[in-house]
Amino acid sequence: MKDHAQLSDIFNEDEDRVNWHDETLWFVRAKRDKAAHSLPEWEALREAASGIKDNVLSNLHDYLLQFEANAQQNGIKIHWASDGDEHNKIVGDILKENGIDRIVKSKSMLTEECHLNEYLHQNGIEVIDTDLGERIVQLADEPPSHIVLPCIHKKKEEIGDLFHEHLGTPEGMSDPVFLTAAARVHLREKFITRKAAITGVNFAVAETGEFVVCTNEGNADMGAHLADVHIACMGIEKIIPMRNQLSVFLRLLARSATGQPITTYSSHFRKPRPGQTMHIVMVDNGRTAQLGRPDFLNSLKCIRCGACMNTCPVYRRSGGHSYHTAIAGPIGSILAPNLDMKKHADLPFASTLCGSCTNVCPVKINIHEQLYRWRQVIVKEGYADPKKIMAMKVMEFTLSNPSVYKIAGKTGRMVLKYAPLAVNNKLNLWYNHRDMPLPPKQSFGEWYAQNEQSIKKNNHV
Ligand code: SF4
Repeated sequence: MKDHAQLSDIFNEDEDRVNWHDETLWFVRAKRDKAAHSLPEWEALREAASGIKDNVLSNLHDYLLQFEANAQQNGIKIHWASDGDEHNKIVGDILKENGIDRIVKSKSMLTEECHLNEYLHQNGIEVIDTDLGERIVQLADEPPSHIVLPCIHKKKEEIGDLFHEHLGTPEGMSDPVFLTAAARVHLREKFITRKAAITGVNFAVAETGEFVVCTNEGNADMGAHLADVHIACMGIEKIIPMRNQLSVFLRLLARSATGQPITTYSSHFRKPRPGQTMHIVMVDNGRTAQLGRPDFLNSLKCIRCGACMNTCPVYRRSGGHSYHTAIAGPIGSILAPNLDMKKHADLPFASTLCGSCTNVCPVKINIHEQLYRWRQVIVKEGYADPKKIMAMKVMEFTLSNPSVYKIAGKTGRMVLKYAPLAVNNKLNLWYNHRDMPLPPKQSFGEWYAQNEQSIKKNNHV
């Protein structure tokens, strides 16, 4: 499997796309800034959200049971899944029991994490993703590259080609308004004819047993309201204790995600309508393991706004697919090693540790500190790149031996002066995008030894 650096290389082959991807996400980040700065109480909201989530994580067991009891009282069937496989089987079984083999699904990163589409497909069930961005990547047979903007890596011309191939739009047509209208017609028929709908869950309220789904397209509502069976899939960390706390999160979520004051649809689901069955599948899939890691547990506060991705200089220039995991970017690089440390050992290193992610996070997750901490854990567990470990050992030996350090410095300056190609060649990836500086004539130590007397004289020592 290719690692983050190798996959970034592939994304970077198209420099125009990289520049445009970078600029588009920065535009979204700037919109977020404007929306955040327009609220004087922004920092107080972040503090409140972080505190509420601290309480949730400290009392998760109790809030989950409270939510289960209230939801059951409302007539919702609750299922518990310890991992992705169990989650998929539960969803598949519900559909089988109801004799359903075609469904609509709105955006749910949890189902991406569990690879639900693939599972259902293998079991003869057709899934149509109804979020426009998700539908586009589904038609392209690709995973989403961003948790809020799933097809942000695609140009409108490419989407026009996809729609021409799959939906029969005119060749070469890439007008976004036209393509959106074509998608609406295409999806409308699916909504009307499918008997089951899957949605995600943004927030689940323990005191009422209701859950809230946020979309800008209304596709979750359309699917759920027209279906006989509504299945909502949620990670167990989505709980909040009280209904009135929703306002804190709803105000933070949309502003952080896209700079909107609120998502166009914030839909509350409390009980099935007459004749409908409603299920919630509550999924662990590594969350309780993360809860048991004190250094990383507060990553479970994440409300999936995507702000850390939009601001990350590495994400913006390497693309979401380079992270080879359902949730890309800085937060994905914290969550993924928890699930499989060996497979995702490269991800915590895909960061400059500049801290911009931490600054924008609406629930105050110390993202860059956790990335740094993961690096230490990964090295200690023996999963780091052996080449890097060797390089660090050589560096440690050199820096801790003054005579070796002096010899290395002299040799380096000579090589750079007389044989720069020994360093600046295609094998040395560091110099692919960098200019080789001219080597200094002497080290600082040599210079100081030569000038020590005059320095002392000038300073009257
Ligand atoms: S870690 Fe914070 S900024 Fe990143 S997606 Fe989650 S809530 Fe948003």
